[in-house]
Amino acid sequence: MSAIEQTTALHLPALQPPRRYLFGPGPSMVHPRVYEALSKPIVGHLDPYFIQVMGDVQQLLKTTFGTSDGATLVISGTGSAGMEAAVANFVEPGAKFAVFANGYFSDRLTEMAKRQGANVVRFEKGWGETFTDDEATEFIRREKPKVVAYVHAETSTGALQAGRAICAAAHDAGALAIADCVTSLGGVPVEFDRTGIDVAYSCTQKGLSCPPGLSPMAMSPRAMDFLRARTTPSRSWYLDLKLIHDYSTVSHRYHHTAPISMFYALREALMVIAEEGIENRWERHRRCNRAFVKGVEAMSLRMHVPEAHRIATLNTVCVPQGVDEAKARKRLLDEPGIEIAGGFGPLAGKVFRIGVMGPLATEDNVQFFLKEFKKTLSAEGYSI
Ligand SMILES: *Cc1c(COP(=O)(O)O)cnc(C)c1O
Repeated sequence: MSAIEQTTALHLPALQPPRRYLFGPGPSMVHPRVYEALSKPIVGHLDPYFIQVMGDVQQLLKTTFGTSDGATLVISGTGSAGMEAAVANFVEPGAKFAVFANGYFSDRLTEMAKRQGANVVRFEKGWGETFTDDEATEFIRREKPKVVAYVHAETSTGALQAGRAICAAAHDAGALAIADCVTSLGGVPVEFDRTGIDVAYSCTQKGLSCPPGLSPMAMSPRAMDFLRARTTPSRSWYLDLKLIHDYSTVSHRYHHTAPISMFYALREALMVIAEEGIENRWERHRRCNRAFVKGVEAMSLRMHVPEAHRIATLNTVCVPQGVDEAKARKRLLDEPGIEIAGGFGPLAGKVFRIGVMGPLATEDNVQFFLKEFKKTLSAEGYSI
């Protein structure tokens, strides 16, 4: 270290992050037990204790995803790493890849698949809209793709896409169905087996109330058969699911050094969910969502997505006329320390994205948020 660098380090204040209420789309609030798990001593990544922790996580994930015969594993990387793993392993160069495109994350899926050399076909809709069973089925029948992908909970719009018809049509066409469950897992029902999903990926920092850093995945027996039968290796070595599955589930031979502390954190977060009961957790989120919507509607604000297609844990509220959404967000962050997000792409300046999930999803917190939100909007010139 040079003299200059040393002086800088000595003059830096101790790490003291501000306390925030994370009412955004993620990262969401971390459960206190998860913070405790993060401070436990690490062991080696091939230590029998760590292998046991990985096994526990896989087992707990089965309940969280809702799968009995699917394989579960964890990618060392955020939700986008899970997305890239799904694309790099199941979409072969030249293969036809059908995407239901109605928001930012389906565009990211499209971009990744193009980089893998796939032949991408898109069914496009506006941001906040969803696909009906009939039109989804018709699209897949017409295109006859090898792989289909949709975003279950589209965080950029607040819309929830039902997956059953998409997965059934994909199977009829002999295709695999990939579902982006990054925002839905742990917050709203994913029901992997019942929906018929073949490949699902998620993240730790949204519905699971953990810090960002890992991407849990589930794969159906059909998906595992596809992997085994694949003769050309995936173009991504780090995200090669055959190698990762072998490391995490079969031989436990070194592939990469798993982030031990994050696995502890995820194990604890999944334990917290299991103790509450996943159905009870969904119901708590639904209850808080009803209270939230009632509160914003009482302020004469409108929700962006029709009631039947809303994500219970992530609300998109239309920005009222005359209010500058960036200023309102800054005021919320500066004064009560509340983080929410704005819209982007076609929804830039048009919506607030407000998450009510995990430990924040209580009636008291919803009322606290609504009170502060109302004060902020009034201060920004909105008269109710
Ligand atoms: C957040 C998110 C991602 C990306 O996850 P990162 O953890 O930010 O990499 C992908 N898809 C959806 C639907 C998301 O909400």
